[in-house]
Amino acid sequence: MKTFDYAPATDVAAAVALASQGGRFLAGGTNLVDLMKLGVETPDVLVDIARLPLREVTELPGGGLRIGAGVRNSDLAAHPVVRRDFPVLSQALLAGASGQLRNMATTGGNLLQRTRCRYFMDMTKPCNKHAPGTGCPARNGDHRNLAILGASEHCVATHPSDMAVALVALDAIVQITGPDGDRSLPLTELHRLPGDTPHLDTVLTAGELITAVDVPALGFGGVSAYRKARDRASYAFAVGSVAAALHAEDGVVRDVRLALGAVAHKPWRAFVAEEALRGRPANRESFLAAADAELAAARPLRDNGYKRTLARNLVATTLERLTGERA
Ligand SMILES: Cc1cc2nc3c(=O)[nH]c(=O)nc-3n(C[C@H](O)[C@H](O)[C@H](O)COP(=O)(O)OP(=O)(O)OC[C@H]3O[C@@H](n4cnc5c(N)ncnc54)[C@H](O)[C@@H]3O)c2cc1C
Ligand code: SF4
Repeated sequence: MKTFDYAPATDVAAAVALASQGGRFLAGGTNLVDLMKLGVETPDVLVDIARLPLREVTELPGGGLRIGAGVRNSDLAAHPVVRRDFPVLSQALLAGASGQLRNMATTGGNLLQRTRCRYFMDMTKPCNKHAPGTGCPARNGDHRNLAILGASEHCVATHPSDMAVALVALDAIVQITGPDGDRSLPLTELHRLPGDTPHLDTVLTAGELITAVDVPALGFGGVSAYRKARDRASYAFAVGSVAAALHAEDGVVRDVRLALGAVAHKPWRAFVAEEALRGRPANRESFLAAADAELAAARPLRDNGYKRTLARNLVATTLERLTGERA
């Protein structure tokens, strides 16, 4: 591992100043330190943000929540308001990683964890995400778990977070502090599609720190859930996932929120499917048709066409179960 300096930060301004001069934030370290051991990440300075006052979950007026960026995944999953009002978020968190990892992993770090594409994690392989212009061996190689939506010829990586899929469905807003001040951003706009800049995962600039994530109240009397498909029963990243919230009344979809995981370079908000569903009968036929509308844009590679069928069935089954819960 390349040598680096370690700088524990005591306040947000100091953390931002240190990181904007070439440092990287260290939260739970469960992704960053692994990537440093592999030589994928090589920061000069690790700015430890564990002591910053970012570990509170606060109730917002109107029923929403502000989640500090340093809140541990296990604490957030167990929070009583999350479990009561946002079960989709609690379920997504509990579907991710192991108990030990969730005790270390944070809200900010989970959103900013990097792709698990095997070529990206192997510095002996070319990869446009390491070094633009070196190529994408995944296109003709191992891409079974990679993207079917929004990919480019330069990169077909997926975003691995479960939590982010739930937060995208919940219209979460990211609070950011940086060298140029504060800004907030819908979570749907934080992560980027690869396009011709696959080395950029997000729109954050040097030194920008996520301080919190706001989750507004759902705004309709809906129920919500997260479903994840993976290669083994526990401790595995998704091969497909769905976060859904549904408000159905008298057999008709009044409102719906849908996001897909493990299908794109970012947590994929399924706006097309949502639009197709509003006002339609709340039954499997409509759910499948809406999924098909969203997945019409899918461009699978040789070995990942199964994800289209998987995502379609996950959407329909999850919405069917939510319809049953509401009835
Ligand atoms: C074996 C294993 C299995 C796993 N399985 C799953 C799974 O099934 N589902 C899943 O979702 N995840 C899974 N994970 C990933 C795990 O959830 C992430 O490693 C973790 O959430 C990252 O959080 P962290 O706080 O440790 O981040 P760190 O490793 O500390 O940081 C990650 C990145 O975020 C940046 N960062 C951290 N906090 C901030 C902030 N506040 N502002 C700006 N930048 C910041 C860091 O600089 C770094 O670039 C797994 C990990 C392992 C090792
Ligand atoms: S998919 Fe992206 S991360 Fe994977 S090898 Fe291609 S460029 Fe690299």
